[in-house]
Amino acid sequence: MKAVALILACIAASTFVARAQARPATPDFDALAREATQLLQEYIRVDTTNPPGNERLAAEFFRKVFDREGIPCEVLDMGKNRANVVAYVSGSGRKRPLVLLNHLDVVPADAGRWTVPPLAGEMRDGYVYGRGATDMKGTAIAHCVTMLALKRSGARLDRDVIFLGTADEEEGVEANGAEWMVKNRLDALRNAEFILTEGAYIDAGASGKAKAWNVDVTEKSILWLKVTATGRAGHGSIPEPNGAVAKLVRAMNRLVAFEPEARLIPSVEKYFEAIAATATQPLAADLRDPRAALADPLRRSRLLADPFRSAALRATVSVTGLRGSDKVNVIPGEASALVDCRLLPGEDAGAFLETLKRVAAEPGLKWEIVASSVATESTTDSDLFRAIERARDRFDPGVPVLTPPLLSTTDATTFRQAGFVVYGFETWRIGPDDDRSHGDDERLSLANVRFGVEATHFIVWAVCGAK
Ligand SMILES: [Zn+2]
Repeated sequence: MKAVALILACIAASTFVARAQARPATPDFDALAREATQLLQEYIRVDTTNPPGNERLAAEFFRKVFDREGIPCEVLDMGKNRANVVAYVSGSGRKRPLVLLNHLDVVPADAGRWTVPPLAGEMRDGYVYGRGATDMKGTAIAHCVTMLALKRSGARLDRDVIFLGTADEEEGVEANGAEWMVKNRLDALRNAEFILTEGAYIDAGASGKAKAWNVDVTEKSILWLKVTATGRAGHGSIPEPNGAVAKLVRAMNRLVAFEPEARLIPSVEKYFEAIAATATQPLAADLRDPRAALADPLRRSRLLADPFRSAALRATVSVTGLRGSDKVNVIPGEASALVDCRLLPGEDAGAFLETLKRVAAEPGLKWEIVASSVATESTTDSDLFRAIERARDRFDPGVPVLTPPLLSTTDATTFRQAGFVVYGFETWRIGPDDDRSHGDDERLSLANVRFGVEATHFIVWAVCGAK
């Protein structure tokens, strides 16, 4: 009996140990946040202002951090001091990997407009200041310390967790690291299923209290155009009704007034449904049933009255540049305009361009495509999206998870086109005064570092931890 009891006790104990190992020893998040703060300060000092980028310096920064912990890491050299960096905490391979994606470059900072040196990583009044604090060196550090915590705890994972830092997101012309990965080293992502990256934050009030968890699951595409008109040059004292400027202005006037057709895509429908809960009538009913609202002229104009809602429901056309004569008394022989169009997923750029030509209704114009991309959308029916919802339940219960479309473009587009499910979501509660990406005195609060480190770890564990 005794022996049997002992064996049973041993079995019970070993099952207990096995179960206990499936959960990571909860990291000391206060200590992890202190470590993250120090790493963020150091990382801001690594100058990856783009141009020229020099992202190899950032890649080496992370290699040193990961090497210290025995986390396998590779710097992927792209030449000209540009590089991507990839690191791995491996799981059992039962499920496909999760990639934590961050870009290594930052936009230039005009030091004269800042109250602190932009690349000093200075700490002041409970904030870390510096270019990249929110876009997106802060997130890179949250990704990094999550890797460290998983490795240190020896947690059992169903998926590999892959840290990926890429070059040249901000300029994205010369050495875009995301495109380079897809073209040259897709193997390094080990057939991953999910990518978590930048895009949307948690929308918070001035007090830091969360109002909505915004997750970017879709991005509109760009269609950038240069339109050139030519005509007889002459003296300004004799008007030229068919001069280049006259033709161009008539055409652009029609483009400015043009209203592209409204279309409802799934993520926008889901987003409208969620924000309907806090909207007042009659708008709430429009948001709840946008199809019916769009079919009714009065309800349609109410729904489209807000520029953000309008841009979420249809293609947009902005005339952004005009060029004619530099001399007030000279009618030039040539005039040109720049036009920034953004299309929804599923819209054909070629067909849209033909529509614009028809709308402009001005013969003889030259239309050139300066740049274009493809609009993309990821499903919300996934383990990663549910993990984000669970994190919301844990940290900000009752606050909605919203999927507003990102109206600009990030590296997410490149990876969505390559077949990954990509969400733009950063675990920062950003109030009105902290939204300073690309702006002056960019900063991240220590409260956010503490919260973001725990929330990122929670999400990664929820989707990757062994079940
Ligand atoms: Zn960014």
